[in-house]
Amino acid sequence: MPLNRIRHAFPAWIWKQLQEAGRADCCEMCGFKIPLLKKRGLTASHIISKDDGGKDIIDNALVLCRNCAESFDTLLKPKIYEAFKQHELNAPPKGWQHAEGRGSPKDKTRNDA
Ligand SMILES: [Zn+2]
Repeated sequence: MPLNRIRHAFPAWIWKQLQEAGRADCCEMCGFKIPLLKKRGLTASHIISKDDGGKDIIDNALVLCRNCAESFDTLLKPKIYEAFKQHELNAPPKGWQHAEGRGSPKDKTRNDA
């Protein structure tokens, strides 16, 4: 993340909600497990940043390890922005409403025993 960029953190009470929702013990992108969250390396990233009007709600949060948080903010967001722009989309595609691809419930190779 560029040093001149101010990161807006979620308020502390969001972590309580994320814990209650069972979302606070591992990175939601890579699966890296870290007990007891942010003080040990997990952070809650805003999906829609506060600068863009994003709210402090758990539906706007991703619990990420430091590496994934940096990748999300510096690599994925610009790529997703450009893809939406190139496809003239103002909202995510309907297919994004549910998980898709490898590891998703639709994955025929998934082996849930
Ligand atoms: Zn991660």
